[in-house]
Amino acid sequence: MPLPPLHQLLRDLIRVPSVNPAHTSDPAIRGERRMADALQTLFTERGLVTERIDTPDPERPAVLGRADAPVPKQTLMFEVHLDTVGIDNMTLPPFEGILRDNRMYGRGACDMKGATAALLYALTPERIRALNARGVSLLIVGAPDEECGTKGAETLAASGVRADHAVILEPTRCRPVVAHKGANWYDIVLRGRSGHGSQPEAGISTHEALARILPEILRAHKALQQMHSHPLLGVSSLNIGRISGGHTYNIIPDHTLIQLDRRVIPTEDPALFEQAVQHILDELIREGRLLSGTVTRVNQTAAFATNPGDTLPQSLLDAVESVTGQRPACEGTSWVSDAAPFSTVCGQTLVFGPGDIAQAHTEDEFIDLTALETGAAILARFLDDYGVTG
Ligand SMILES: [Zn+2]
Repeated sequence: MPLPPLHQLLRDLIRVPSVNPAHTSDPAIRGERRMADALQTLFTERGLVTERIDTPDPERPAVLGRADAPVPKQTLMFEVHLDTVGIDNMTLPPFEGILRDNRMYGRGACDMKGATAALLYALTPERIRALNARGVSLLIVGAPDEECGTKGAETLAASGVRADHAVILEPTRCRPVVAHKGANWYDIVLRGRSGHGSQPEAGISTHEALARILPEILRAHKALQQMHSHPLLGVSSLNIGRISGGHTYNIIPDHTLIQLDRRVIPTEDPALFEQAVQHILDELIREGRLLSGTVTRVNQTAAFATNPGDTLPQSLLDAVESVTGQRPACEGTSWVSDAAPFSTVCGQTLVFGPGDIAQAHTEDEFIDLTALETGAAILARFLDDYGVTG
């Protein structure tokens, strides 16, 4: 029996492997090119004008689809990321799209080929024409490299891709996510002086310095938590992810590396924490307890926040309410997304889509098909009402 078209569309997308190269070296599944090809075809079928944006790796292009209004008043953008995480942990065939218990299983079923299918299903040529007639230019962005630090979206935002309203598709259980924390990863490098373990006073032990630094870092982090909070996100968080260094039992350790993951709310400047850490390190250097100490931000995804009362979240909530009969509250999350780079260049940005982030990246990733259909219906309603002036 043939599948309903929306389910078939999702299965087709699951069958196109697009694993982020950071998660695989297998050329049969590595990179986003196959997904970009598939989306380009689907965009063309819907009457969109398509454009490829190449990156240094030919297996990792971005793809755009656009339909410009003859008399443009505003631009509405949807963004999907083309990549998925790897498949090493999967217990089910990752690229088949297995149907069981009203769910479809496969890598990307939830994150985020489900939302991609829902959007493409809702995006009929008639709806695109109606949007254009109302002065709405439509832009659909397929970005590579989300799963390893939102790099693809950063490049696209920097290259001039922008809109008045941007809907970033991710599994949010069909609730508008209007804020998330930023992710800052740090390397703190301590340098001391080595020597014989029987004479610790003759060297400078970076591990002894470490014992003094950690409580100070926790204190500085707590002080920032007390100063800055956000109504949807709470306070910034800190994970001391990894500590490494030293040589062996009887050698004074002369190097220590501390790796931190700090998730920062949009109302707190990440530089405040960095300055506090550098101050702690400088004090120890002055006291002769370290030769040198540096803190370096090695990876950053910015935080983002949109006012829940703005027109984009409210019009999406109108669509949710008219399809489900319920008007959920806007939410904030601790996971990051492509919303961060696009929020810096777009008027209003939010994250939305069917599926639950709890099923993303799992060994048996799936999306509930009723949730998928609800997501497609909400997006269809949103498109029908968008730009209609009362
Ligand atoms: Zn995702």
